[in-house]
Amino acid sequence: MTNAERPKENQFDVVIIGGGMVGASMACALASLPIKIAIIEAYPFRSNNQPSYDARSIALAYGSKIIFETLGLWESLQQNATPIEHIHISNKGQFGVTRLHAKDENLEALGYVIENRLLGNSLLEKLNQYSNIHLICPAKLDDLNIHDDYAELNITQNDQAIRLQSKLVIGADGGNSKVREIIDIPEKTKAYKQTAIISNVSPGKPHDNIAYERFTNQGPIALLPMSDNRCSLVLTVNDENKDEVMAMDDTLFLQYLEERFGFRTGGFKKTSKRHAYPLSLMRIEEHYKPRAVIIGNAAHTLHPIAGQGFNLGLRDVAVLADTLANAIVEQKDVGETSVLENYAKLRSKDQKKVAFITDSLAKIYSNDFFLIAKARSKGLAVTDIMPTIKHRVAKEAMGLAGKLPKLSRGLPL
Ligand SMILES: Cc1cc2nc3c(=O)[nH]c(=O)nc-3n(C[C@H](O)[C@H](O)[C@H](O)COP(=O)(O)OP(=O)(O)OC[C@H]3O[C@@H](n4cnc5c(N)ncnc54)[C@H](O)[C@@H]3O)c2cc1C
Repeated sequence: MTNAERPKENQFDVVIIGGGMVGASMACALASLPIKIAIIEAYPFRSNNQPSYDARSIALAYGSKIIFETLGLWESLQQNATPIEHIHISNKGQFGVTRLHAKDENLEALGYVIENRLLGNSLLEKLNQYSNIHLICPAKLDDLNIHDDYAELNITQNDQAIRLQSKLVIGADGGNSKVREIIDIPEKTKAYKQTAIISNVSPGKPHDNIAYERFTNQGPIALLPMSDNRCSLVLTVNDENKDEVMAMDDTLFLQYLEERFGFRTGGFKKTSKRHAYPLSLMRIEEHYKPRAVIIGNAAHTLHPIAGQGFNLGLRDVAVLADTLANAIVEQKDVGETSVLENYAKLRSKDQKKVAFITDSLAKIYSNDFFLIAKARSKGLAVTDIMPTIKHRVAKEAMGLAGKLPKLSRGLPL
């Protein structure tokens, strides 16, 4: 069948593979443009197997809040978001603390914590409001063929093969991206030999909207404030200790956590079920091939040490949406190579910088060597008393550094 003979309902301007946090946000960001969009997602949004909207919680940087606000999603997200008013960064067993406060930045919060499942519900509700977004779910991308004027996608839905055509394919299909594999973008992956164990825990004292980042010689611990005085825990363990920690009963696990974190929160009283995530760094040098581009975890998978992975992916979304909107104004084809090249130029620096920072933090703060431990304590103490450095750290953490795309400045496309 030729392009012209293909049924109109199977022809799109943009097809997004992956309806996880980044892919679904991408569709919402493009919805206001005069284009027809399909989003292909392998798992129903509310299914227990959905890998993006799972038991984790996400620390949304203040910059991400602005993007969601501009997309009209914040009203629904806000009901379930807990503000981070203070960030407390410390080094167990050493002096030196850095404290960041929202009021020092003249903001009501440095960021917000939201449960991934609830974020998924809000995104789904929003996607369903747009008549130019076609959510095809559950369905999987099997293959992709690139032609001069369009890309052809082979999808399986309910054991049926469907063929779609699109001017542009956006791969938002996560760390093991099928799109990245098919279009042959090489990646570099480094395993950290560490696992993140997550659960929701109840501290002995009120959390007072403080997010803690505590560095210990066995890896970092993040504790994020949530509703009902719960905290979302991301506990890093070396791979060889993972099975032992996962097998502990709740009482033993809470004791182990107290030992590693200390008593700043008045101990820990309760924990939810634990889940484990192996950690690695994945980077790419190329962002696109003709008529296909990759974003979010498909383009960069980071250590969760600074809670930056999704925030970085959402900035990919904001910049790609801006780039495609400009292409439409200039009456260009959205899948044209020059358009994708513009996007890649705009995103490389931020992606490289954040990957470098998180990788350096993961290395420096998981190192037990005496001199490195001393130096990082000194670094935290110096940062705490230097307002200019502190302000820069806060700006980076909030995703407000550098040149910002329209959606990050509160401006619709
Ligand atoms: C423990 C932990 C804590 C974290 N905490 C934070 C945090 O606090 N802040 C932060 O910013 N980031 C955090 N992150 C990172 C964040 O989770 C990721 O950056 C984010 O999930 C990336 O979203 P994504 O949509 O790109 O990919 P994913 O979440 O992996 O979603 C990919 C989607 O694509 C679908 N898919 C895959 N293949 C196909 C196919 N062939 N066809 C159709 N669909 C397909 C999948 O079903 C999935 O829904 C954390 C990560 C971990 C592991």
